[in-house]
Amino acid sequence: MSRLKLILTCKQVSRTLLEEHYRQLSWHRKLAVRFHLSWCWICGKFNQQVIDMQNGIDQYIDHELEDPVPSNMQLPDDTRERVLKAMRDNQQ
Ligand SMILES: [Zn+2]
Repeated sequence: MSRLKLILTCKQVSRTLLEEHYRQLSWHRKLAVRFHLSWCWICGKFNQQVIDMQNGIDQYIDHELEDPVPSNMQLPDDTRERVLKAMRDNQQ
C-alpha cells in the first residue's frame, strides 16, 4: 500500500504537470499539487498558469468537439499550409 505523499518539491510538481494534465491526476496527487501551489513563492504562480492553460486547452477542445468551426469559416488548405510552414520556420 502506497503512502499518501502530500509534500512535493517544486521539481516534482513541475514534472507532474509536464507529464500529465492536472484534470487527469488522482485526487491525492491533485491535493498534493494544490497544497504545494498554495504556499510556494518559487513555482506557485508559474505552475498555476500551467494548470490554467491546460484547463483552457481542454475547454477549447471540448467546445470544438461540440460545435466545430463551419467549413466556410476555415482557412483554405493552401493558406493553412503556408501559415503552418511559417510557424515552423519561425520556431527554428
Ligand atoms: Zn514550488
